[in-house]
Amino acid sequence: MKLFFSNTCVICGREMVSVTKDHIVPFYKGGSDSIRNIQPACKSCNSSKSGDITDYRPLFCKIKGLILPDYWKLKPGKISRAEKAGRKLAESIVEITQMLYQNNTKKNFLKGVVDIISEARNEN
Ligand SMILES: [Zn+2]
Repeated sequence: MKLFFSNTCVICGREMVSVTKDHIVPFYKGGSDSIRNIQPACKSCNSSKSGDITDYRPLFCKIKGLILPDYWKLKPGKISRAEKAGRKLAESIVEITQMLYQNNTKKNFLKGVVDIISEARNEN
């Protein structure tokens, strides 16, 4: 894939930089280590993208007149599932943090965590 993109970062378009393996949907959002979920990105773009799960390869290919092979393409269903899981996790972290500050007892905090997890399970 590095060769296909001629060692170019698909996010900023810089050539001949030391490209890294950027996971489009990060592991913590349910992304996999499959080639479909990998795009070449420079270190600075990779580390500064934070919550961005954009697949920059199709746009890059369009600009450069390249055709992204089908077996490299992300499956749309997987993106939305991963996005949903990511949002739920972020919401839970916010709720847990708020609870930790509001209820100062360990007992209440743990009960809150259990409640949030079972709520999330019922929704999925
Ligand atoms: Zn870059």
